[in-house]
Amino acid sequence: MGAPMASARTACPQCHGSGVVDLMDLLYSPQVDYLRCSSCGCWWTVPKNTDGPATRCSFGTPANPKTAGA
Ligand SMILES: [Zn+2]
Repeated sequence: MGAPMASARTACPQCHGSGVVDLMDLLYSPQVDYLRCSSCGCWWTVPKNTDGPATRCSFGTPANPKTAGA
């Protein structure tokens, strides 16, 4: 269709929000880039030089029933 696909770098894999924050300056890895969603607060990684797949991080994720499934 020619429409740009939402990549794991521009859309949150959890809530599909577009408020994705690049954490490359905070968390450096030679193999992946770290990203965080400013809407739901979840974290994930994306392999270098790719747009996905996103891998959710389990650390630092607060249990927040208000945002679950939002
Ligand atoms: Zn999100």
